[in-house]
Amino acid sequence: MIGAVDIGGTKIAAGIVDEQGVILCRVESPTDPERGFEDALSRIAAMLREASGRARAPISGVGIGCTGPIDPFSGVVGKVDFLPGWEGGNLADGLGREFKVPVALENDADAAALGEAGWGSGRGKRNFIYVTISTGIGGGIILDGMLYRGVDGAHPEIGHHVIDASGPLCFCGAHGCWERLASGPAMVDWLKSQLPAQEGHPAPSDARDICERAVRGDERCTRAVEREAFYLGLGLANLITMFTPDAIALGGGVMKSAHLFLDRAREVIRQNCGLVPFEKTELLLASLGPDAALAGAARAWFHRFGQDRPSA
Ligand SMILES: [Zn+2]
Repeated sequence: MIGAVDIGGTKIAAGIVDEQGVILCRVESPTDPERGFEDALSRIAAMLREASGRARAPISGVGIGCTGPIDPFSGVVGKVDFLPGWEGGNLADGLGREFKVPVALENDADAAALGEAGWGSGRGKRNFIYVTISTGIGGGIILDGMLYRGVDGAHPEIGHHVIDASGPLCFCGAHGCWERLASGPAMVDWLKSQLPAQEGHPAPSDARDICERAVRGDERCTRAVEREAFYLGLGLANLITMFTPDAIALGGGVMKSAHLFLDRAREVIRQNCGLVPFEKTELLLASLGPDAALAGAARAWFHRFGQDRPSA
């Protein structure tokens, strides 16, 4: 049984996950990052002990998925805007001391990619990319069954590759990166720029709202959906041209409306991937849903220390 921890900017989840990826028990708490790193560490340890007790399962390892840049080898948290004051804290050492078991730390998108590759839609795919499209765009890349890592273990930011250099400025410093054009907030921002606020007609508040209005026939929301499908398709086309993976799995809140986007996205892929066998890359929907984060954190442990490999 693996103790799994998912650390996000607003909440921390901890749970017990078995070797089939089944979550036996789950507890959650607000992140409250301002209480400091040591405080968070002791709260995470208490959550894992509680989950372990409730599941009546001793923990033989701890897997952690954490937002933002982390060092997967040293276990140290990098500079994360959502976790002020945590920089330099060592999650792996702290929990390893507490539970006397091996600890694996991964970026949360990489952990979710490992979860989908091992226990979800990517099972059996040797070259697999997981993309999550919600308030941002992130993902992880599995090559030849192993998580792809960049220099010094760096996590590649596929959501911030530039699609349109004349596009809107992103917090990352680039103009027109994929996230800035195709995330949920990007849909809302574009629609607002097209739709002056009218009294009695509030602008859509989020991507789901836009999709629902498009289904009901709202013309501008339909255009926002078409634009989303176009930019989604362009980003996917770039990934297919560069990696020619066996499959790409799409997850995240915006993909709850995937049926509105996928036909157009496939057309964009067809138009832009002339040099590679794009038709062989399967476009799948991620299958772990809300379990992806915790299952992924556990899968990160199996990937690092276990016998089985994601696509062996
Ligand atoms: Zn960006």
